[in-house]
Amino acid sequence: MDYSTNDSKSTSKKKVVAVVGGGLVGNLNACYFAKRGFQVEVFESREDIRQAKIVKGRSINLVLSHRGRQALKHVGMEDTIISKGIPMHSRMIHALNGTQSPIPYGKKGQYILSIDRANLNKELLSAAETYPNINLNFAHKLLNWSTETGAMTFHLFVEEIQADLIVGCDGAFSAIRKQFLRQSRFNYSQTYIPHGYLEITMPPINGEFAMKPDYLHIWPRNTFMMIALPNLDKTFNCTLFMPFEEFEKVTTGDKVIEFFQKYFPDAIPLIGAEALKRDFFRLPAQAMVSVKCSSYHFGDKCVLMGDAAHAMVPFYGQGMNAGFEDCLVLNEIMDQLNEDFSAVLPEYTRVRVPDGQAIADLAMYNYVEMREHVNSKWFLFRKYVDNFLHIIMPRTIIPLYTMVTFTRTRYHKVVKHWHWQDKVINQGLLFCAAVSVAGGSYLLVRYPPSMPNIPIEQLWSRLQALKSPF
Ligand SMILES: Cc1cc2nc3c(=O)[nH]c(=O)nc-3n(C[C@H](O)[C@H](O)[C@H](O)COP(=O)(O)OP(=O)(O)OC[C@H]3O[C@@H](n4cnc5c(N)ncnc54)[C@H](O)[C@@H]3O)c2cc1C
Repeated sequence: MDYSTNDSKSTSKKKVVAVVGGGLVGNLNACYFAKRGFQVEVFESREDIRQAKIVKGRSINLVLSHRGRQALKHVGMEDTIISKGIPMHSRMIHALNGTQSPIPYGKKGQYILSIDRANLNKELLSAAETYPNINLNFAHKLLNWSTETGAMTFHLFVEEIQADLIVGCDGAFSAIRKQFLRQSRFNYSQTYIPHGYLEITMPPINGEFAMKPDYLHIWPRNTFMMIALPNLDKTFNCTLFMPFEEFEKVTTGDKVIEFFQKYFPDAIPLIGAEALKRDFFRLPAQAMVSVKCSSYHFGDKCVLMGDAAHAMVPFYGQGMNAGFEDCLVLNEIMDQLNEDFSAVLPEYTRVRVPDGQAIADLAMYNYVEMREHVNSKWFLFRKYVDNFLHIIMPRTIIPLYTMVTFTRTRYHKVVKHWHWQDKVINQGLLFCAAVSVAGGSYLLVRYPPSMPNIPIEQLWSRLQALKSPF
């Protein structure tokens, strides 16, 4: 079937765009292209998830923040989606002894949203369906495509399909990307981290949330951690991230309880011992992969977006947000370059590759920050210093998390600014410490305190008393 217009230079609105992968990014992208007047064919390997009884996939809920919201806003979906999200203003850190301490995400009024993944996907499908120029083709698993002719072949379909532009939104294990791998000067790397994740449900207690709902709860335990995000049905979705070798040691229900007693004792009564044993073994721990590649386009024929271009570990809550922002960035370039694919696609690669790679690196960095640094006093002190400086110099000092989550500053610029301000703040703190020590010493020498005449044995017993915890 040939959908293409065979008119590569034309900017005619009748051009056909094939979006391969009807997941989060694919469906949003389809709306963007349809809004510009293209005929859009979406090819999704699964059946329509709105009709499916069980939807297999990744995390049950995910975090939506500024970049994702801006992208949804452009197609008029922001309000619908946020009305079904739960705002989270702070992280709530659960210490081993059960104490809880909040660390705000940003300034007063800034928050991220916990969103139901399946519902978001369904909303996006329904939004795509409202455009008369979008066709949703379910159960179409792409097997291959030809870089020479652009013809796509699908599982169980004999006929080849052609379009003017192929947009690969088929996720971290993209079949579209496979053809890029055969091209010279295409760079590609993928890294599996040694940690896996599994999900456990924390049910409501007496019809109410078991913990405070307007927080992202974190149990940081250095080499591993658990997080929990609230859902509209008043459950929490807990995700345990841990090295695979540790998962392998927990082989029975009793060992699960023993493990939780040791590391997350406050969570046992909230989840319930039986539910915990059941959920822990419901699915094996899932792997997490980070993908970097360049370029994101092939000629004027094909472009990679979302996880197909830059899958990342989930610790900055940015994978989907960055994928949604991809749609916005491509759209902005389409405006600038008059929808001429032969100019738009190379420009998209030039602009977006440094950002895709920067956020993949930041996501890796945040894994250490979430499970390890939040336990450190220096880290917490620096957070307060950063936030304080941000209040008095809002344009110069901007906390890293704020730049990533609450702005559309390009990710690679975020990293540059972060390194610069880190250096400046550390040098400033060092300077302040040196001035205090020097000033203190001068005052001590200039005005020595009058020392009480205490006998040596009394001095010893006073020193001993200082060691007592009370
Ligand atoms: C545990 C976990 C938690 C996460 N939390 C967050 C978060 O809080 N915030 C955030 O922003 N991101 C989060 N992410 C990342 C986010 O899930 C992804 O970045 C996002 O799903 C990417 O969307 P996508 O449409 O590019 O890919 P996908 O969601 O993977 O969709 C790809 C689609 O393509 C289809 N497909 C695949 N192969 C083919 C084929 N050959 N032919 C046709 N169709 C095909 C698939 O069926 C699927 O529908 C998390 C990820 C994980 C694993």
